Amino acid sequence: MLVTSGPTVEPIDPVRFLSNRSSGKQGHAVASALASLGAQVTLVSGPVTLPDPAGVQVQHVQTAREMLKACEAALPVDVAVCVAAVADWRVKQPSRHKIKKTGGGVPVLELVENPDILKKLSRRKNNRPRLMVGFAAETDSLLENATVKRWAKGCDWIVASDVSTGQAFNAEDNKILLVTSRGPESWPRMSKQEIARQLAERIAKQLT
Ligand code: C5P
Repeated sequence: MLVTSGPTVEPIDPVRFLSNRSSGKQGHAVASALASLGAQVTLVSGPVTLPDPAGVQVQHVQTAREMLKACEAALPVDVAVCVAAVADWRVKQPSRHKIKKTGGGVPVLELVENPDILKKLSRRKNNRPRLMVGFAAETDSLLENATVKRWAKGCDWIVASDVSTGQAFNAEDNKILLVTSRGPESWPRMSKQEIARQLAERIAKQLT
């Protein structure tokens, strides 16, 4: 099984970067929970302060493109769970030298879109994982956005959470909505470990 976790970081220059808020707690917990059920797990993680989970093969990456490459290298897998908060954009031409404050103007950064890893894996013609699970952090219209996202990405399940209060980031617990082909299921607030454990059990059940 394959799990992505953490943020990606996209360089602006050697000392600055664009990134997303993500502690990696949920992704790392999912990788651990799947491994505890006996799965062989590759965890592709952006930079986080968490230790590598035991019993999991970890690939450390920085950028979205590195994350995609590491994910593709891990195929074939039965299941992919994309928890990472991948930066949607990167700077088209990162500077090789630190950009100086020269007084006057501010730098203008030209951004280009990063590959959508969840979408790419979900829409593969060959070696598509049997079960593709995406995450969605939304600030409004949780059910509607999660339903649209599930369709747009081509994944099987979406695990959605409301991040409007900022409480989900770096928190120990979360409240999620699981959207599958059978519709939405609202789970009570629980620890990220417990979400991971219950999600791993659902994944195992789905495969049997
Ligand atoms: O479109 P959005 O970023 O809200 O989608 C979130 C889901 O898509 C997460 O599962 C995330 O890991 C995945 N994603 C990805 N590659 C991207 C952007 C998002 O895999 N470039």
